[in-house]
Order: sequence, then C-alpha cells, then structure tokens
Amino acid sequence: EIEVAIKVVVVGNGAVGKSSMIQRYCKGIFTKDYKKTIGVDFLERQIEISGEEVRLMLWDTAGQEEFDAITKSYYRGAQACVLAFSTVDRASFDAVESWKKKVEDEVGNIPMVLVQNKIDLVDNALIDHEEADALAKKLKLRFYRTSVKEDLNVNDVFRYLSDRYLAR
Ligand code: GDP
Ligand code: MG
Repeated sequence: EIEVAIKVVVVGNGAVGKSSMIQRYCKGIFTKDYKKTIGVDFLERQIEISGEEVRLMLWDTAGQEEFDAITKSYYRGAQACVLAFSTVDRASFDAVESWKKKVEDEVGNIPMVLVQNKIDLVDNALIDHEEADALAKKLKLRFYRTSVKEDLNVNDVFRYLSDRYLAR
C-alpha cells in the first residue's frame, strides 16, 4: 500500500517543457503540442524507493505562469519542487531565481532541483555550461540536464526529489 504521497510543483517560464515533462514522466509520451486537460490539476506516478511505495503527484499549470498568475492553491502543501528552464530560452534561465523565491515565499524550504530542459537542442544553446553550473552552485541545488523529447534524465529528477523528501 501507499505510505507516502508527495505533491511536486513544476515551475518555470512558459514553454520550457513543464507540461511535457509531467506527461512524459506520468504517461510515457511526448507530443509537440500538449495542452493541459481542463480540470486535471495533476498527474501521478507511483515508484518504489527502498521498499516503500511512493506516490508522486505532479502538479501542472494551465499556462498561468505566462501572466505571473499562478494561484496560491497551486503551491499549497507542495512538498518538492522542480525549477525548470530551457536550453534555448535565455529569459527562462534568468527567471530561475525569482521562481525559487516565489515557491519559498509560499511554502518555505522544500526539496528543490534545478533542471535545464531541451538539452537535445544544445547546438542552439543560449546558456553556457559554465553559467548553468554556476547558478546551481550559487543556489545550492542539484542540477540535471534533461530532454523530455528524447527521454533523457527525466526519471532521475523525480527519483532525486523523492529521495530527498524521504530523507528529510
Ligand atoms: P510549458 O509551457 O513549460 O508547460 O511547456 P510545454 O510542455 O507546453 O512545452 C513547450 C514546447 O516545448 C512544446 O512544443 C514541447 O513539445 C516542446 N518541448 C518540451 N520538452 C522538450 C524537449 O526536451 N526538447 C524539445 N526539442 N522540445 C521540447
Ligand atoms: Mg504547460
């Protein structure tokens, strides 16, 4: 039976791949134009960590992040957080710290992870390797480079957060 359920919020600028990441992790699929199903707040996936059944509830937004209009109910009770930016969107990288602060202002200090998505587009990267590493170091966050499209490192992100949560 399920012993632990974790609410995970996935934040970052619009179009960095948050919805795609949730859909990839929970349903195993990638589509070019994923639209959030109206009325569905989160998708879930169950994993086993050292013999314990853990249910991850990954909360998606309906695009309100574009208007800085995420409601408090989105963050309420969040127990872990993915801070995401895109390899090909400079502004999304520059916004990471403000996303971190927003989450902390709402829910305090919870396990977080920094994710650079769309690493398949690395030839057109607008952020160098060094500056991404430097940001992770400055914010004291574990850092993953993912491609939701190619299914690279996505599982690792959520396993890390689950481990961190269980070790709290
Ligand atoms: P959100 O606004 O952060 O939820 O972003 P979406 O999940 O809607 O993704 C925005 C666009 O980026 C969509 O066209 C996705 O198909 C695309 N996308 C998401 N992840 C990747 C990735 O890893 N690589 C590439 N090349 N495109 C991606
Ligand atoms: Mg979305």
